[in-house]
Amino acid sequence: MSLAVLPSYISRENIGPWHIFLQQVEKVAPLLDKSLWPWVETLRRPKRALIVDVPIRLDNGEIAHFEGYRVHHNTSRGPGKGGVRFHQDVTLSEVMALAGWMSIKNAVVNVPFGGAKGGIRVDPRQLSQPELERLTRRYTSEIDMMIGPDKDIPAPDMNTNAQVMAWMMDTYSMNQGRTSTGVVTGKPLSLGGSLGRPDATGRGVFVTAREAAKKIDLPLIGARVCIQGFGNVGEASARMFAAAGARIVAVQDVSATVFNAAGLDIASLKRYLSEQRTLIGAPDCEVITEDAFWAVPCEFLVPAALESQINQFNAGKINARVVVEGANGPTTPEAEDILAERNILVIPDVLANAGGVTVSYFEWVQDFSSFFWSEDEINVRLERIMSEAFEAIWQLAAERQLSLRTAAFVVGCSRVLQARAMRGLYP
Ligand code: NAD
Repeated sequence: MSLAVLPSYISRENIGPWHIFLQQVEKVAPLLDKSLWPWVETLRRPKRALIVDVPIRLDNGEIAHFEGYRVHHNTSRGPGKGGVRFHQDVTLSEVMALAGWMSIKNAVVNVPFGGAKGGIRVDPRQLSQPELERLTRRYTSEIDMMIGPDKDIPAPDMNTNAQVMAWMMDTYSMNQGRTSTGVVTGKPLSLGGSLGRPDATGRGVFVTAREAAKKIDLPLIGARVCIQGFGNVGEASARMFAAAGARIVAVQDVSATVFNAAGLDIASLKRYLSEQRTLIGAPDCEVITEDAFWAVPCEFLVPAALESQINQFNAGKINARVVVEGANGPTTPEAEDILAERNILVIPDVLANAGGVTVSYFEWVQDFSSFFWSEDEINVRLERIMSEAFEAIWQLAAERQLSLRTAAFVVGCSRVLQARAMRGLYP
């Protein structure tokens, strides 16, 4: 097993999600064209990984230190691309796995990027807005050597947003001595952001779910949907499903799990959450336990929070027809086997949540050309890329009798390794 090739900076004890990524690579390697086999090792090692100390002065005058990371998994197909996560449990292993999934995802939707990811080990809820700004600016300066519009382009991920991207863009620009809008995506519209970017990941999740529903003759109207995570991805997905006539019966976030068999009102839930910062007490729904969420009968289950949420302990309880992975790495390999045995279709992260990076690519192109597209143009192009990618992977899965994840990995890994092989070794 690939644990034998662990780099010295990752131990077996703290291997975390990187182990999942390695298992996925192991599974797909024998299915790749033989000409690519000599290059598979590339996927098992990130190209480069930077660990930085991020010291900031807190509002009370004390100095606090946070650990930050930026990882380039593979840049054979183009500059690195991937989000920045602020979370108290971020580890190097997690960032490596997330960067690896970005390499595959960018290749699956054929955007000309490699895979990268970053993060800071911090609970942002404990920081004031000025502290968050200082943290973001110092982190950006510390990873300055890794990023740039033609090197590596960060974007939002968990607990980061358009404001954080604006601070990153400004910090990078100040360090460079010129305004460089193309260094990050997911920016505010006023700073070269793109229309359609905030909803893009959720829209992509919905498009892949809709295409899967057509394949298995599952009507969307009246379909029951459970969503874990009610942030950028979860909330937008919920809205898209509801607009198509589906019923969002359960939503779970870090604060609580709420349920309504008749369907939750997503707009009022969002309003309540932004005012109260908790789902507890939201109108027209009942609070159920965190555990009960997984057993709620539904047609679509959308994990849109953290990794490994669907695991060997809850996979047997899941009562869904389709799992649509809005989050990155939400299903462990053990859980995936259980879901397959139970005939539950999984639309994998590297396909289902690729709408975000697709519109990030559009944003980057618009910034380079300083010519901005209408929201319609963006959504039409996004729809086309997502539904074509879905169709290609569905066909491959059917032809070669593979799961959708393995088929997506065959497509993604082949594209990455073909580029790697063509480039050859330097020097
Ligand atoms: P976000 O910070 O906007 O929202 C995260 C949500 O998850 C919040 O509602 C939070 O309360 C909830 N959450 C956190 N911990 C939880 C827990 N233990 N149990 C239940 N809920 C929990 O983040 P996001 O940008 O929506 O990202 C969510 C996931 O989607 C991540 O895996 C991210 O990598 C992935 N993703 C995001 C994008 C994007 O464009 N933002 C693109 C592709 C993939």
